Amino acid sequence: MSFSRVAGHETVIENLRRLIRSDRLAHAYLFAGPDGVGKFLTAVAFAQAILCPSSAKTGDACGKCPGCVRVDSGNHSDLTVFQPEVEGRQFVADLVEQLQSQIPLKPRSGNRRVFILRDVHEMNATAANRLLKTLEEPPSHALLILVTSSVHALPETILSRCRLVRFGALPAERVIQALSEKAGARSEDAAWLSRFAAGSVGQALRLAEGPLRNARAEMLKSAASAHGMSHIALSDALSGLADAAGKSAFERRAFMCQLLALLAGLYRDAALMGMNGSIEGCLNQDVPDIVRGVSARSSPEVNANHAERCLDAARCIAQNANVTMILDGLAQDLAGG
Ligand SMILES: [Zn+2]
Repeated sequence: MSFSRVAGHETVIENLRRLIRSDRLAHAYLFAGPDGVGKFLTAVAFAQAILCPSSAKTGDACGKCPGCVRVDSGNHSDLTVFQPEVEGRQFVADLVEQLQSQIPLKPRSGNRRVFILRDVHEMNATAANRLLKTLEEPPSHALLILVTSSVHALPETILSRCRLVRFGALPAERVIQALSEKAGARSEDAAWLSRFAAGSVGQALRLAEGPLRNARAEMLKSAASAHGMSHIALSDALSGLADAAGKSAFERRAFMCQLLALLAGLYRDAALMGMNGSIEGCLNQDVPDIVRGVSARSSPEVNANHAERCLDAARCIAQNANVTMILDGLAQDLAGG
C-alpha cells in the first residue's frame, strides 16, 4: 500500500513524503476531507512508510520488506486501526480505552507505533475527553492519525493538538477511472455516477451498486411517463425501493437518503434547464429528454424548491426522523407545486 496506490491528492502526498524524509513527524495528524476520497488509504500508506525501514530516502514504503508485507496483509504489530464497528455507529469510549491501554506498549520492530482512528467525528463527549488526555501526553514512540469527514464536529481542544491535513474532492476523471477499475462501470454510467458523487470515489462506488442504479432507472421511468411522477405514489414507491435494498434499518435509511439525493438532482437539473434551456451542467446529462419533460412541468423556482425539499427530507431521515411521515410530507409538498 505505498502512496502510488492512492488516486490523486498529489500535494498532500508530497508533503507527507517530505515529513518522512526529514524525519520531522508530529505525534498526531488529522486527515480531514469529504467521504470516500481516499483519506484512509492515504493514512495506511503513510503508516506503512513510517514503519518501513527503507523509507528515509524516498519518503515512501518499499512495499517488499517483511514490515511492508505485514501492513499490506493487515497484521503489522506496530499498526493498529480503530474504527466504529458498523458504519454510522458511534466511536465509543471503549475504543479510546483500548487505545489508551495499547499506546504505552513499546514498538515491536522499529521505533514507532502508529494508530489510525477512523470516523473520529462520531465520538461522544466521554470518548473525546479520553482521547484528549492521550493527545496531551503521547509516549514518544506513538503516532496517531485521526481520520474524519466532518472536521467541524470535533472539539477545538482535539483539533489544536493535531496537525491538520486537508483532502479535497477528486477530479471527475479520477472518479471515472476508479469506477471502471473497481466496479467495472460502463462509461455512460461512470459519467453520471461521477457527477453525482462530486469527487468522492467511495460515494460513486456506493451509487454504482445495483439496487440504487436500478432505483434510479425506476425513478426516471416514472418521471418520464405521460403524467409525470405520480406524487401520490411517490412515498410508497420510495419506501418500497428502500425496503428492497437493505438488510438493516441503518442501510435502508442510508439508501433512502441516496435516493432522495438522486431525486433532488433531477429537480435541480429541471430548474437549471428551465433557466438556460440546455442540458449543459446537468447531473443527468445521459437522459436529456426526461430532464426536459420535468422542467417543462413547473417553473425553475418551483423545481429548485422541490430539489431543496428532497434534500431536507434526506437530512431528516439521516437524523432518524420517522421515514413514513417524512416521505408523506415530501410527497404532498411535491404535489403542491
Ligand atoms: Zn518496506
